[in-house]
Amino acid sequence: IQWYPGHMNKARNQLEDKMNLIDVVVEVLDARIPIASRNPMIAELVGDKPHLIVLNKADLADPVMTKLWQKALMGPKTSVMAMDGKHNTNMQALIHLIKRAGQDKVQKLQEKGAATPTIRIALVGVPNCGKSTIINRLVGHNVAITGDKPGVTKGQSWLKTQHGIQILDTPGILWPKFDDQAVGYKLAAFGAIKDTIFHADDVALFVIAQMRQYYPAYLAKFANTSKEALENISDTDLLLAMTQNNGMRDDYDRFANFMLLRLRKGKLGRITLDRPNHDN
Ligand code: GDP
Repeated sequence: IQWYPGHMNKARNQLEDKMNLIDVVVEVLDARIPIASRNPMIAELVGDKPHLIVLNKADLADPVMTKLWQKALMGPKTSVMAMDGKHNTNMQALIHLIKRAGQDKVQKLQEKGAATPTIRIALVGVPNCGKSTIINRLVGHNVAITGDKPGVTKGQSWLKTQHGIQILDTPGILWPKFDDQAVGYKLAAFGAIKDTIFHADDVALFVIAQMRQYYPAYLAKFANTSKEALENISDTDLLLAMTQNNGMRDDYDRFANFMLLRLRKGKLGRITLDRPNHDN
C-alpha cells in the first residue's frame, strides 16, 4: 500500500533542516499503539540529542500496558512519561522533564552570559496523536500551528511559553512507509491515517481479532454476549451478528465505522494494541 503523501516527506525534510536548532526532541506517541505510532526514522532524526517520549492519550490506554511501555522505551538519553493532553494531566511533569533534558544547553547558555536561557524543542509524531493539544497547553492558549496545513512553509518560528521553553511552530508529522499491514490497521483504528486508506470493515475485523486475544471481556460486553459464546463464533460472523443486532442489517461498513468511533473514544474500554516483548 502506498499511502505516504508527498507533503509528509516535505515535513520530514523541513524538520531535518531545523534539527541543529533543536535542543530536545519531544516524540509524542499514542499510548494505545506506542510501536505502530513510532517512526522508524526517529532515531536518525534525534541523533544524540536528549529525547523525551510522551505516551499521550494515556486516559484511553490500558494503564497496565502504559506502565510496561514506560519502562520498555526508556533509554540512556531517552526519558518516557505518560499524559493526557486533552484533560491536562501531568503537564508539570512534562515541563520538568523537558527542562531536565535541556539542562546542559541551559548551562552552556548561562556560561555565555545569557540572562534568560531558553530550551528549544520540536514535537514530532503521527497525525492525531495530540501534538497540537500539547503545544497549546504548553503555550497556555490556542495557537495557529502551521504544520496543520500541508504546504505552508514560510513563517516558521518559535512559539513562546512561560516556562523557558520555545516550541518550533511546525510539529513534525511523521509516519513510516510501512510494509506491515498490522501497523496500518492499528494506525487506522485509532485515526492516525485517513479512513479512506483501508475499508472500515477490514479495520474492524482486525480490531475484533485483537480484542479477542487481549480484551475478550470488553469484546463480549460490546457484542452483548458472553465470553464463552465468543469462542464459538468466527470474527466475520461476529461482525455480522453485531451489525444486525445494532439494526444495520448487512451494512458492515456503517457498523464498522460506528465500532471504530466507539473504540477511538475509549467506549469499548481502555485498550492498548501494542504489547512490550510480545508481538513487536
Ligand atoms: P495532532 O494531529 O497530533 O496535532 O493531534 P491533536 O492535538 O489535534 O489531537 C487530536 C485529537 O485527540 C483531538 O480531538 C484532541 O482533543 C484529542 N486528544 C489529544 N490528546 C488527548 C488525550 O491525551 N486524551 C484524549 N482523550 N484525547 C486527546
